[in-house]
Amino acid sequence: MFNGDQEQQQQPSDTSFTSSEVQSAPPTAAFILPEQLCTASNHRLIVQALKKTITRIPKKFQHYYLEYQNTHQREFLKYVNYIGQLLFLSYFLMDWLLLPDIVSQSAITRLVLVVIAMLINLFLFRYCQNIKILDSLMPTYCAIAAASWLYLLSLSQNPIVDTYIYAACMFILLGNLCIQVSFRYSVFTSLLISSVTFYGVFNLVQGPEALSFVLIYGSILALSMYISWNNTANSKRNFLRVLLNDWNYYALSELAHTDELTQLNNRRQFMQRAEKAIQKWTKYNMACLLMLDIDFFKQINDTYGHDVGDEVLQILAEITRKEMRYTDILARFGGEEFIALLPNTTLNEAEAIADRLCQKIKNHQICIDDKFFFNFSVSIGVAQLKPHEKDLNLLIKNADIALYQAKENGRNQVAVYSYDA
Ligand code: GH3
Ligand code: MG
Ligand code: MG
Repeated sequence: MFNGDQEQQQQPSDTSFTSSEVQSAPPTAAFILPEQLCTASNHRLIVQALKKTITRIPKKFQHYYLEYQNTHQREFLKYVNYIGQLLFLSYFLMDWLLLPDIVSQSAITRLVLVVIAMLINLFLFRYCQNIKILDSLMPTYCAIAAASWLYLLSLSQNPIVDTYIYAACMFILLGNLCIQVSFRYSVFTSLLISSVTFYGVFNLVQGPEALSFVLIYGSILALSMYISWNNTANSKRNFLRVLLNDWNYYALSELAHTDELTQLNNRRQFMQRAEKAIQKWTKYNMACLLMLDIDFFKQINDTYGHDVGDEVLQILAEITRKEMRYTDILARFGGEEFIALLPNTTLNEAEAIADRLCQKIKNHQICIDDKFFFNFSVSIGVAQLKPHEKDLNLLIKNADIALYQAKENGRNQVAVYSYDA
């Protein structure tokens, strides 16, 4: 749909756009989406994915989704993991108050598990870039914690164990609430936590007490899984909106610096790119500037109509684009004026290019609706950027003076600006 800069000059495409300006654009967009993926079909794909009730990330964006989540959820998951460990450790106080007969086992188990988990956390949050692993870390810890804690309860003779088992709901709640990236992991870890919990609880209580636990646990399981599903769906929707934002940003930037009629750079874009290029060049870069103006264009408009005039502009853009190299910067500078900055080009070479262009344009017969056959010509002014010189406006002014000279000399020709004149 859009195409930009050099591609614009070399090979117009209707499916994608690229722009060196966009790469250095201000950080208003997150730029998760690489330019080459900013195609019309991908735009449709993103919009469709956003419209669906069950949000899924299209396969080709999966990698970017995980990258995005790795950047944005990593810190959250890290802190939630550390807080979870401290919570598990602090529950020792409950054991100490309620189950004095297993207090030492509780202290040792909790301490050992927390130290191991902290070490794993330190390692993984430093080196692991796989956000799916980090996302499923907390629910996995919850399953291990549930198994160990229910084992501790089985060691206790205290009758309060029958009611204390309800604290096991914390594990499933915590496990599911922390999942942010992939709901699939929530399903796996819910199964794991639940099997461990049911196994432990059914060893401790039976009959109506077990049933009442199942009912309460079941409702918390369902609620926490729903929240987990919603959280991951929101993560996916947010990501898709970011993609859309990137896409729109690229598209708008492209529109802002492209001439609609010819699809060449517009004047503003030319000035920005040319200025940037000139400032980057070494003082020995021999660059030249061509300024083209259609001869008697007003007559073409008056004779054949404005529409035909527009087609002439498009044809001229196409012919000129084909003559340019990848590094040249070509633009529609104004009404029927075109401009091209040619880096690493001597004055002789630039003159030769301009002559060739003049010839090609002159020889190109315009045929409109099989009715109008006519030729048109251009005048071209050429100027050279002097070594050590970096003044773009002066270069344009000199090329304009040369162009005026070409017009004065009778049009359909090239004139070179001479510094000695
Ligand atoms: P010269 O040989 O001296 O350059 O004569 P000219 O007729 O080309 O120059 P002039 O400046 O008198 O006329 C330029 C014309 O270009 C006038 C304007 O209507 C026309 N023009 C400018 N922009 C467009 C455009 O986008 N489409 C069309 N069809 N015409 C345009
Ligand atoms: Mg003009
Ligand atoms: Mg003209």
